Amino acid sequence: MKSVTLALCLTALLAGPVAAQEAPTWSFAIHGGAGVIERASLTPSQDADYRAALKVALEAGGRVLADGGSALDAVQAAIETMEDNPLFNAGRGAVFTAAGRNEMDSAIMNGADLDAGAVAGLTHTRHPIAAARAVMERSPHVMLAGDGADTFAAADGLEQAPASWFFTERRWQGLLRTLRDQNLPIPARPEGVPVPPQQGAALTDQPGMPPLNENKFGTVGAVALDQSGHLAAGTSTGGTNAKQWGRIGDAPIIGAGTYASNADGCAVSATGTGEYFIRSTVARDICTRTAAGASAQAAGEAEIADVGSIGGDGGVVVMALDGVPGFAMNTSGMYRGSISSAHPAEVAIYGDEALRP
Ligand code: ASP
Repeated sequence: MKSVTLALCLTALLAGPVAAQEAPTWSFAIHGGAGVIERASLTPSQDADYRAALKVALEAGGRVLADGGSALDAVQAAIETMEDNPLFNAGRGAVFTAAGRNEMDSAIMNGADLDAGAVAGLTHTRHPIAAARAVMERSPHVMLAGDGADTFAAADGLEQAPASWFFTERRWQGLLRTLRDQNLPIPARPEGVPVPPQQGAALTDQPGMPPLNENKFGTVGAVALDQSGHLAAGTSTGGTNAKQWGRIGDAPIIGAGTYASNADGCAVSATGTGEYFIRSTVARDICTRTAAGASAQAAGEAEIADVGSIGGDGGVVVMALDGVPGFAMNTSGMYRGSISSAHPAEVAIYGDEALRP
């Protein structure tokens, strides 16, 4: 035992003085969906487009935090940039239901007081994350769904957009392929959208558009630690392609896809097969693990192993009070990134890319 201690001391001495690593005063991390994302599935320009979009979102959140803004504001600012970017399955670019509609879900949570807001099945609100925040701050409720949620958002002054705003040809073609595979009826093309491309047109060649055979989820989320030491988390999604019957996933369910608690020392946003993430109460469980002393990374990995054991696929971003984010996934990739007072924006896509702790 003594010789082990001696060896460790010697190693430390030989390594020379170690600069004390200062904890960041603020820290921010995001995801843009997890799934089968391999180098072969993205062209160099698609890869670059995703990295650029992640950087835009990180810098939007990072700016808020660097200026002394709140974790909640940072989460909302970053997610809004991704909701406006058709690359992601949230807001503009959301997947379609089997009936040919975009029905979007979102949630936000404030770690300081466990306040939370969520919306499900929005069809016309441009920024679902803003609607979730409005529910949290300006309604007596935690979750609103369907037409009522849009009505509330509109009455709150949030921008409403026609179906054509959310429409992307890539997601529409993805819907048609799934419906044909499942022998389900094909809905009418939404009103006001551009004319369909010619039969056989190579949609994959559209600049910035990922391949149509992609099999990834595309939900977006953010977790933040602000300069006051408060945590917040938010998630926004179009859900799953060709969903039916008012299906709602984990993203807007507090404790499943989204959770934040200063007391537990964590903020979590998840992406993946929502039905499993709901049953595993993924986000809440991760906070139980950090409350018991696990790091963000260890808590995320343990929970992803658990949800994987019942069949779930996906990933999480986790923020802890020390400002060190965790990224865990059981898929081959997850669009992700981080930024903090200690380092500039860094992004990653594939599972084997490391982000600095
Ligand atoms: N978790 C989302 C859902 O089940 C989907 C995703 O993350 O891509 O609705």
